[in-house]
Amino acid sequence: MARGKHPLMKCRHCDAKAVVNMRQHKLALCGPHFVEWVHKQTERFIEKYNMFTRDERVLVAVSGGKDSLALWDILLALGYRADGLYIGLGIDGGLSYSDESHRYITEFIEARGGDLTLHTVDVAGIYGASIPDAARLTRRGREKPCSVCGLSKRHIMNRVAREHGYDVLATGHNLDDEAAVLFGNAMVWSVDYLSRQGPVLPPSHPGLARKVKPLFRFYEREMAAYAIVRGIEYMYDECPHATGATTIRYKELLNQLEESSPGIKLQYVLRFLKAREQHGLFAQVREQLDLRTCPTCGQPTTNDGACSFCRMWERVNDRRIEQGL
Ligand code: SF4
Ligand SMILES: [Zn+2]
Ligand SMILES: [Zn+2]
Repeated sequence: MARGKHPLMKCRHCDAKAVVNMRQHKLALCGPHFVEWVHKQTERFIEKYNMFTRDERVLVAVSGGKDSLALWDILLALGYRADGLYIGLGIDGGLSYSDESHRYITEFIEARGGDLTLHTVDVAGIYGASIPDAARLTRRGREKPCSVCGLSKRHIMNRVAREHGYDVLATGHNLDDEAAVLFGNAMVWSVDYLSRQGPVLPPSHPGLARKVKPLFRFYEREMAAYAIVRGIEYMYDECPHATGATTIRYKELLNQLEESSPGIKLQYVLRFLKAREQHGLFAQVREQLDLRTCPTCGQPTTNDGACSFCRMWERVNDRRIEQGL
């Protein structure tokens, strides 16, 4: 199941065979002890970074992939008040990617007795076009619809959290995601992103939810192992538009480094956060960020007037009218 596993490797805590060997922690564990370890670690991260309390309501953005379903599973197991949010992007890629993703989420809920709250937002149904169609119509995504997609997902997550009174918005970003994004931001010294990237992002506007990443210290393969041990069926395929993405190339590079220096990815992210906090790196950038309020949707924006999301969907609708769609 996990790279580096020795056939005779035993669990650190019992005589059972280890199912996962985490070289960066020098720790091999059997299934039940691994699940216990993941739960304890997540609880520790939630408290250490002041993510949320048991009284607060958490909205988990679920995509049908292993990380977000694992996150929902862990939060429920730990007794947090966690509901799900699924955004139907209308991505096909030949195998009806979005429908498949939704099916895994429905199965996840059914396997837990069906008594979970899931908010579903169908982008095409609400805004008039799927993400790939919107990208085509605005020519914003001539090659890939990712910028339209990212913009829309951020807006929708904020909107649903606000409309339903959630305190916190949780995403399933793991360490591999965080390290690759940090690497990308540091490659081009994107100080704006470097000033904000982290496990907790406080709300920039009243009424917005705090954004948290409770899994940000777990390696991707640990989350895959967790999903398998817990019997969580998940969407294995990446979004068809993810192929060739820069983040994937950065992940591969960082994995090569990790191979020869176990733990380097974790140190890279943790030391960045520590240096930023201890030395106030990029603090000025954060303070200078001039956020205004979009007059159309009420969400924060650096634009004068309507935010990028509202402008983009206005263009989509203009094109739809022009083209009689
Ligand atoms: S790769 Fe990610 S951002 Fe791009 S279209 Fe797919 S889900 Fe959206
Ligand atoms: Zn054990
Ligand atoms: Zn707006």
